Amino acid sequence: MTTRREQLARALADVQERIRRACVDAGRDPSEVTLIAVTKTWPASDIRLLADLGIRHVGESRAGELADKHADLADLDLIWHAIGQVQRNKAAVVVQHADVIHAVDRDSLVSALQRAADAADRTVQVLIQVNLDPQPTEGRGGCPPDQVRALAQQISAQPRLTLAGVMAVAPLRADPDEAFARLAVTHEDLLTLAPQAQMRSAGMSEDLEAAIRHGATHVRVGSAILGNRPDLL
Ligand SMILES: *Cc1c(COP(=O)(O)O)cnc(C)c1O
Repeated sequence: MTTRREQLARALADVQERIRRACVDAGRDPSEVTLIAVTKTWPASDIRLLADLGIRHVGESRAGELADKHADLADLDLIWHAIGQVQRNKAAVVVQHADVIHAVDRDSLVSALQRAADAADRTVQVLIQVNLDPQPTEGRGGCPPDQVRALAQQISAQPRLTLAGVMAVAPLRADPDEAFARLAVTHEDLLTLAPQAQMRSAGMSEDLEAAIRHGATHVRVGSAILGNRPDLL
């Protein structure tokens, strides 16, 4: 019988090999790419196993789940990434439990995060989520590329927020190479304004190779490591 640890070890090794190969193919050093294990819907015990297997970066989508697991695993030295959409009324919870907030896409959220971080006496890293849909639709999330500079300036004015880079999800049914190439252009432009904002969070189980070809520094991988999620998020 295969234990959960063996299962995770094998899947993790496969993903790490995919990352290594994608880096070699792209002429990049694998040390340039950080793997974030996306553990949403999976129990804290899985995160404990992954930490034992060498994972340091963990991604969660929902504020409540992030808070619960972070509290359960306070004894581990992990870096917590809030990768999902953040509702303004969840800003305080997310700020208290995340080290990096990936999906910052609008002014009102920036102000809410600043207030929450100030109240919690914390500084958090934030990424601008860029909407890569050529025809952005309401509700999918993400800042349109032509508004990224303005949002970056607003974030940079907040003493408790550190602008650390950009994040994106390839649009459904889009060519991921085309999408991540657009992200690269937007990010390069942002770097002229905010040279410290080096993180490019892109690529998931299905498209991490394309993301690495287009300069991803952080890939967010869930199902390829942990298996298919019981419920869809
Ligand atoms: C769930 C999720 C992931 C991981 O997706 P997989 O396809 O399971 O690898 C990555 N990024 C975001 C924003 C997610 O919500």
